[in-house]
Amino acid sequence: MEFLWEGNVRKANPYTPGEQPNGQGVIKLNTNENPYPPPELVAEVLMDYNRDSARLYPDTNSTALTEALAKRYGVDASQIFIGVGSDDVISMLFMTFFNSSKPVLFPDITYSFYEVWADIYKVPFKTLPLDENFRMNPADYKIENGGIIFPNPNAPTGVYEPLELVEEIAAANPGAVVIVDEAYVDFGGVSCLPLIEKYDNLIIVQTFSKSRSMAGMRIGFAVGNKRLIKFLNDVKFSVNSYTMNHISQLCGAASVKCDVYFKNTLEKIINTRENTKRRLAELGFSFPDSKANFIFARHDVKNAGEIFNALKARKIYVRHWNKPRISDYLRITIGTDGEMDTLIEALKGIINHEQNF
Ligand code: PMP
Repeated sequence: MEFLWEGNVRKANPYTPGEQPNGQGVIKLNTNENPYPPPELVAEVLMDYNRDSARLYPDTNSTALTEALAKRYGVDASQIFIGVGSDDVISMLFMTFFNSSKPVLFPDITYSFYEVWADIYKVPFKTLPLDENFRMNPADYKIENGGIIFPNPNAPTGVYEPLELVEEIAAANPGAVVIVDEAYVDFGGVSCLPLIEKYDNLIIVQTFSKSRSMAGMRIGFAVGNKRLIKFLNDVKFSVNSYTMNHISQLCGAASVKCDVYFKNTLEKIINTRENTKRRLAELGFSFPDSKANFIFARHDVKNAGEIFNALKARKIYVRHWNKPRISDYLRITIGTDGEMDTLIEALKGIINHEQNF
């Protein structure tokens, strides 16, 4: 039944996040979280937090966090925008820069939230097919458009494109803003951050949710030239001034200072990923080479949906999309070595069971 006022409702087709199951014995390899905790300094900030500080509104500019990031990445504080996770940052970017009747461009297989934002902000979009190896063709991005966004490495494929591709797309589109979503870049890609000096239309987005083990703190940021960041802040301050809470600001700033811990954690995850690639290949899986903290794998024989359900029955959660071109694949987040051992043993059981029939 429809109510009379429904004609005026902004109807949305929302993004579906991965499940957050809880309970004992769950192995969660479905949302690309980091299996290791944030550094000790973050624990100290939480322990020392004075509850009286909670009375006050947080700093609207997240100054401590912005300055820590500016120092870490060698840019001016005026070139950084902070948001509540990179989802918030990208949502603000869509609202600010994708404001034309020409289509926003992104790959056909990519982060499914892009389409959701395009819909909610009522901007047209056009998806450009990746090739059979899930690679982008930069020539596709030389058509009329109202902006461009893509992740590098891409999600859910894990495929990393070289900086030359980013540069070719940015150079070919001086009249549109090009957003590179670098949520997974720390796991083996090279950030295109230095290119923001050369291309005034280029903006990069990163997150604390993956490489910095802080998905629950909701911290994301964009880096670009001062003018882009000013427009972005003008929109943000027209929607909600107090987005980032006080504790996340403090914990985020602490995390950025712990570079040795950060690099060690990344090294562990990369090693586990490379081991997991070998073991999955031995079991008959194939996958595009991943430079992210997940592997996008299909099995030669066994159906992905069945593997997904059989893993879930064993309390191992991975991600599966029943969508064209990718329904044969599972996206498996890299956990600890122990978690990956359990996954591989479970997969052996599931696959051998099938082959006995
Ligand atoms: N971009 C990509 C490509 C992602 O996979 C994710 C994680 N779902 C995000 C952005 C958003 O992450 P967060 O909001 O936690 O920073």
